Amino acid sequence: MKLRGQRLVLLLILCVSGVNAFSLNREAFTFTKYDLDVRVEPEQQRLGVRGRLTLRNDSATPQKIAVLQISSSLDWRSIKAGEKPLQFVSQPYTSDIDHTGALSEAIVALPEAVAPKSSVDLEIAYEGIIVLDATRLTRIGAPTAQANSSDWDQINTKFTAVRGAGYVAWYPIATEAADLSEGKSLFDVLGRWKTREAASKMHLHIDVFRDDGERPPELVINEASCAMMYEAMGRSQIYSGDCTYQPLGLVVPTFVVASYEVIDRAAIQVHYLSGRNNAATNYADAAEKLVPFITEWFGGPRSKVRTAELADPEAASFESGSFLLTPLTGTDAKLAGLAAAHQLTHAAFSSPRPWINEGAAHFAQALYVQHQSGRQAALDYMQLHRSALSAAEQQTTAPRSEDEVNRSLVNTSDEALYRSKAMCVWWMLRDMIGDQALKKALASYRPDEDKEPSYMPRLIQAQTQRDLEWFFDDWVYRDHGLPDFKVESAFPRKTMTDEYLVTVTVANLGKAGAEVPVIVKFAGGEIVKRVEVRANSKGVIRIEVQKPPEEVVVNDGSVPESDMTNNTFKIEVADASK
Ligand SMILES: [Zn+2]
Repeated sequence: MKLRGQRLVLLLILCVSGVNAFSLNREAFTFTKYDLDVRVEPEQQRLGVRGRLTLRNDSATPQKIAVLQISSSLDWRSIKAGEKPLQFVSQPYTSDIDHTGALSEAIVALPEAVAPKSSVDLEIAYEGIIVLDATRLTRIGAPTAQANSSDWDQINTKFTAVRGAGYVAWYPIATEAADLSEGKSLFDVLGRWKTREAASKMHLHIDVFRDDGERPPELVINEASCAMMYEAMGRSQIYSGDCTYQPLGLVVPTFVVASYEVIDRAAIQVHYLSGRNNAATNYADAAEKLVPFITEWFGGPRSKVRTAELADPEAASFESGSFLLTPLTGTDAKLAGLAAAHQLTHAAFSSPRPWINEGAAHFAQALYVQHQSGRQAALDYMQLHRSALSAAEQQTTAPRSEDEVNRSLVNTSDEALYRSKAMCVWWMLRDMIGDQALKKALASYRPDEDKEPSYMPRLIQAQTQRDLEWFFDDWVYRDHGLPDFKVESAFPRKTMTDEYLVTVTVANLGKAGAEVPVIVKFAGGEIVKRVEVRANSKGVIRIEVQKPPEEVVVNDGSVPESDMTNNTFKIEVADASK
């Protein structure tokens, strides 16, 4: 009855102030500070949280209402300001930002309107359970097994792993509804949230609690500075971690509770489950071997890399900086090396810009494959990424100029772009300016000095005589889609020295330019040269070969392209003797 009375009062407030649920500005506040006491009870699959939030009004108008959202499997217990309970309506809010496909949303009447740029402190309490739930995926038709391997978050006696915003809203967030059936909506909503929160601070105290006389399993948190403690009081035993994320950056606060064993080496720590000693050792060995190679490209590791095993062997891996959650089943050293290359790069090199941060880590994986198995193997590896990229680039049916800017590498929140496309961009830059110049540019990068999108491009430009502005324009500052190369003609001419000079004209039908390899093939061999072909332009190159040329191919696969079917040109050998 009390609750109903409160609701009525709040509804009156909402009506009087002329605000209705449809005009709520859910993204008005940035949560600049979290101070949360979290209690995890694996036996009950339960999470209970008490804490304090600081909300800053980043909108242009005073705000009388604040919106706080947690997973729909959690319930709000109290919301106060300065010890005074605030009235709030709690309602389910459908959104695919949470694994359950919905949020428990508290619409809170603030004690007074909060002016733009001003802040308000709230004391909060909520609790509930976090069980395996992939509703947001199954309701759009994903097969259950596949959905569960993707949304594996849960609190459970055997294995607990819970990721934050974008997976499980186990700490409060405030976002507009995300919809997985609408292409980019989840990426966009989550991207906006992370951008707003990047400078925020989160202090977490997590207690894993057992009262049956048993010691709780190990607690692992994705923040390197955590202080871990173990405490026993009679039958109650607590494993706790005290951590501060400052700033949050792009990190998604995550905790894992499992009966782990640990391999601890100089560069890496692997937390593994019983029976997986071989796979874990293999992983640690692979990582240790790679340290010199990664150091040469990206500098020495600034922190120890941490890997923790996911219990479900089918589970999708999750990374957070140099912390990786992954199944550890295989003992294939190359696969272990591939994962370690990415993780070690994060430990050595970081940037607040996803295209630099993730792009470099994926680029490192391609470099590792080349290092192990040669350039062709690296191009084949990148091909896997390029299919995701082509799909992402094709979604722009009628490109508008704002799309070019929004989808650019410097602005995008689309993973296919800031991972796969960025990897290709780093690879192309390396092909254009060479290893040494690119290594120097990377070594001169300082994340705290990266205030402008042009900062990194300028560092790269400083290492070469070539003008790269057109390249950054087409690939980094704007999204001009992908190039489409075509060998327009290839004329061979026999020289005085009995060799052949082939004049190749390459047309680029796309809106993004690139420097692309041109390969002239002849009996028993081939010659590769590179030609720069700007958007909607042609490039001409002359290539000398010793035997009659048979075929010309543009692009060895190192430049992502929208159409690779028009890249080969057959040369009639008879013509060559004319
Ligand atoms: Zn990464």
